[in-house]
Amino acid sequence: MTIQWFPGHMHLTRKAITERLDDTDVVIELLDARLPGSSANPLLASLIGTKPTLKVLNKQDLADPDRNTLWLAHYNAQPQTRAVLLDASEIAPAQKLIKACFELDPARGGMVKPMRVLICGIPNVGKSTLINSLVKKRAAHTGDEAGITRREQRVVLADDVYLYDTPGMLWPKITVPESGYRLAASGAVGRNAYDERDVAMALLGYLREHYAAGLTARYKLPSLDVGNDEALLSAIGARRGCLQGKGRVDLQKAAEIVLTEFRGGQLGRVTLETPEAFVTWKTAADAA
Ligand code: GDP
Repeated sequence: MTIQWFPGHMHLTRKAITERLDDTDVVIELLDARLPGSSANPLLASLIGTKPTLKVLNKQDLADPDRNTLWLAHYNAQPQTRAVLLDASEIAPAQKLIKACFELDPARGGMVKPMRVLICGIPNVGKSTLINSLVKKRAAHTGDEAGITRREQRVVLADDVYLYDTPGMLWPKITVPESGYRLAASGAVGRNAYDERDVAMALLGYLREHYAAGLTARYKLPSLDVGNDEALLSAIGARRGCLQGKGRVDLQKAAEIVLTEFRGGQLGRVTLETPEAFVTWKTAADAA
């Protein structure tokens, strides 16, 4: 499958993040818990260097609980890395992140200086949602920081925490071919970059193998054994009445339904990669 993905302005983002990092105490790196490896932008890791970083597996409520455990263990085994699960739309767990940030930055001791936290992540991973949840309880004010990209926002929390949103756009980077349809299915890649039918078919292929029960239940299919991935998409379209002339199934419409329902969690709690699988893909891509 081809994903026509050429993320723009990465040099500007690199520059903006580098500048912002100079004044950052702790980085919160938001990842999508349904595709943690694929949703990480490697540029960020190279820029962050040794800054204390909290990896937050967001949308954990949509992800497979068993695989959440695997990914947490995977990251927490890495040196100087702390990982936590999050549903950013819930206020209490979001607020706990601030405590975790203070723990990551013990050097500050009794300093009265505010702690500066940079929230980083690819589009749609939940940055705004997290900032809103943090602000709800104890926001002081929101404001644009002059002189930096328009998107950047600084939020001052009442207990001396300054939050910064990613300056510029940290577009996803497809470092291994296997990440392509996963990023597209998650909604992180612009719609013009892929064919929704291809992405839906690839997703169905994975779901059929790993999450058959959710698929069967959602689409009330007597069997998933209907042929190839296109035949499965067609069977789903027929079930949903996506028909065009002469009783043919409208695959485009069927694909949109599958992708919308996957993104909304209606196909069950799904994680599209294990740490083991991702490491294997990455090793192969690095060697190629
Ligand atoms: P941003 O582009 O990184 O700022 O992402 P947004 O905060 O706009 O979130 C993108 C979409 O994901 C929105 O529809 C949010 O409601 C949804 N979202 C964000 N965090 C979570 C989460 O933890 N769980 C679920 N289920 N949805 C989330």
